[in-house]
Amino acid sequence: MTRRPFIAGNWKMNLGPSAAAALASELAAGLTGTADVSVDVAVAPIAICIPGVVAALRGSGVHVASQNLHPEAKGAFTGELPGGALREAGCTYAVIGHSERRQLFGESDDFINAKVHAAFAAGLLPILCVGETLAQRDAGAASATVLSQVEAGLAGLEADQVAAVTLAYEPVWAIGTGRTATPELAQQMHGAIRGWLADRFPAFVSAQLRIQYGGSVKPHNAAELLSQPDIDGALVGGASLKAESFQAIIHAVS
Ligand code: PEP
Repeated sequence: MTRRPFIAGNWKMNLGPSAAAALASELAAGLTGTADVSVDVAVAPIAICIPGVVAALRGSGVHVASQNLHPEAKGAFTGELPGGALREAGCTYAVIGHSERRQLFGESDDFINAKVHAAFAAGLLPILCVGETLAQRDAGAASATVLSQVEAGLAGLEADQVAAVTLAYEPVWAIGTGRTATPELAQQMHGAIRGWLADRFPAFVSAQLRIQYGGSVKPHNAAELLSQPDIDGALVGGASLKAESFQAIIHAVS
């Protein structure tokens, strides 16, 4: 089966409401048509920018993702983001378990798994991030680390939910460093993840689930990465902050 490519831009804690809406308008003007026809595209702004970005992207086919959500649907969790409100605001996807959340905010695999369940409960599609640190890779533990994050993140989901998850393989040493995994190394991990899924779930799951690569994806390296058989798209940080470079990455696949 052919999986529809999926390019997502993680704007992180950059771009306030006006800059986010301006970039979204620029993307809407440049991508209308492309995003509908051949590739799924999403951007993940700062939470307070979501309504403005949703409005600017209306009719473009470009989706909006939240960068996070809380496992609980409501209650006394000051400052947190419930999935239902994100869905109501117009999000389609939720980025979950980004390495910055794991490392800087101490998010555990169990907490991340609870967020994945919360996303489905709210009608959001999870983009579940996994990836090893340089120390883990140097210790020969890259695959074991990533596969255990995948297993923990997907725990308790029905097979059709697993098939609807997007996994983002993001080696931590490649995020924001300008150091990209070689296409061969990335493909090796993507293949290992797909093989792991094939061993545990009905065949449609490994056939359908999309695995994005993330880590210093830029216009010059996107085409080669995206041509690998198990790389179904990209989660893009820095290069998603400019319409020109983000569009160039999208065009590399479409
Ligand atoms: C990311 O934030 O998920 C990411 C991959 O960032 P960058 O593209 O800047 O490395």
